[in-house]
Amino acid sequence: MTKTISIIGAGIAGLAAGCYGQMNGYETQIFELHDQPGGVCTAWKRKDYTIDACLHWLVGSNPKSNFYPLWEELGAVQNRQFVNFEEFRRLEDKDGKAFIIYADLDKLEKHMLELAPEDKVMIKSFIGGARNLTKFKLPVDKAPELYTPFDAAKMLIGMIPYLGTFMKWRKVSTAELAGWFKNPFLSTAFRGAFAGDMDDFSAFAMQMSLAWQHNQEAGYPLGGSLPFAKAIEKRYLQLGGKINYKSPVNKISVENGKAVGIRLVDGTEHHSDVVISAADGHATIYDMLDRKFINDKIRGYYDKLPLFPPLVYVGLGVNRDFSGVPHEISYLLDKPITIGNKPHQSIGLTVYNYDKTLAKPGKTVLVAMFNSDYDYWKKLKTENPKQYDEEKVKIADQLIAFLDTKFPGLAKQVDMRDVSTPVTWEQYTGNWRGSYEGWLITVKTFMMRMSKQLPGLGNFYMTGQWVEPGGGVPAAAMSARNVIQIICKQDKKKFSTSKP
Ligand SMILES: Cc1cc2nc3c(=O)[nH]c(=O)nc-3n(C[C@H](O)[C@H](O)[C@H](O)COP(=O)(O)OP(=O)(O)OC[C@H]3O[C@@H](n4cnc5c(N)ncnc54)[C@H](O)[C@@H]3O)c2cc1C
Repeated sequence: MTKTISIIGAGIAGLAAGCYGQMNGYETQIFELHDQPGGVCTAWKRKDYTIDACLHWLVGSNPKSNFYPLWEELGAVQNRQFVNFEEFRRLEDKDGKAFIIYADLDKLEKHMLELAPEDKVMIKSFIGGARNLTKFKLPVDKAPELYTPFDAAKMLIGMIPYLGTFMKWRKVSTAELAGWFKNPFLSTAFRGAFAGDMDDFSAFAMQMSLAWQHNQEAGYPLGGSLPFAKAIEKRYLQLGGKINYKSPVNKISVENGKAVGIRLVDGTEHHSDVVISAADGHATIYDMLDRKFINDKIRGYYDKLPLFPPLVYVGLGVNRDFSGVPHEISYLLDKPITIGNKPHQSIGLTVYNYDKTLAKPGKTVLVAMFNSDYDYWKKLKTENPKQYDEEKVKIADQLIAFLDTKFPGLAKQVDMRDVSTPVTWEQYTGNWRGSYEGWLITVKTFMMRMSKQLPGLGNFYMTGQWVEPGGGVPAAAMSARNVIQIICKQDKKKFSTSKP
């Protein structure tokens, strides 16, 4: 008899788990609380504008990347065009002096040396590490949980050329590295441009990102995040999968230490042989399973590990053509701007002039993201909804006033404004404390492995960003592929994939 799998959540991990489950002969069914696929990989329409809320870069967008075949299996990259930027991001001070993160590492190194010749040794060392990683191919084909000693040895041997870079940079944080630059502008700009105020962000992870940019293997998918997610949804449905939207799961049913199905908020029960949660980790462990399958290690994650900070996300629709304007600019401010209860030293702006599908000709979407404080926004929304709304209006006003100084006349050209807070993210995707990418990659969590199973609970798996520190769309998809490999192994089945 065909084994049945219930999957909670139609984010990228849930959809990918469904696709690989179907490819391997399981009868799967996804239950999603929202009315559309994608989870945080999403977008929304306001007036004539589409506000994209996720993909700035998709690792694996280049056919030469190890990850590309995986996206092909999921039907996500076929007929999709990618934009590879010459400049990844730039940071400007109040006088317009710019630190530009060029995608090309030689160009970036030259630019940094021009800005700060006194930092030659450090610049060469950091960029040299990134250059070294341009040849590194992330092993993606087999779930690490299934590695034999031979696989592990093969992986270690493959890592040898990169061990020097790894050992040197893996414990260095952004803040530490920035502090090593003698040139004050480079030091401030480097810290601001790479990690905002996420000072603990791992320098090695930064080097990996630079290497991907250099190789043009992390492009932006034209059309944005939602069409990308919908392509995987289409693939899943074509493989015979079934998605139930507006179906929030309340409980995971357990009998004799084994998951046997799920119960929806409306009380409907669905039985299955296996349950995979691709939804928020905290809600899964603490609510759907009533904290019954937890140990100190897992409790420790949720008590202590830092999260990607939740966002205040401001979208503006502007009746103006921004052709020729850099697409990602961080403006260093003279005086900090206060967003909610948090002062910010810079404003990071994405100018979507490279994706004409998001606005009508001559119009452009601008987005500013601010790391913010979940507790502040939650309390405000609960205790004083009027002030919560006023605060959102104030944020948009402040941003527009600032942008008007950079792009004179802009204030009068804004014909759409949209502000979401950490509470909005929590409400629409169920992610814990509004975090948009799960666990932050810090020097402590980098390369950390989390189990996809819970102690004492059979026939149950977790997948997605809450079991893959660092998160991201590729990690979500790979995590799901790995879970289905593990299930196949348990069922003594050969894991197989196909391409549409
Ligand atoms: C602004 C922003 C920018 C980003 N930029 C990038 C980028 O450039 N590149 C990149 O790779 N990644 C990026 N990410 C991160 C990436 O989008 C996520 O890490 C990834 O999409 C997570 O996928 P997931 O399936 O694990 O989780 P989610 O997307 O959170 O999916 C979980 C799903 O479960 C559903 N759900 C939750 N609770 C329940 C329940 N009780 N019942 C039923 N369904 C439930 C949710 O509605 C959701 O659909 C970005 C994210 C954001 C927000």
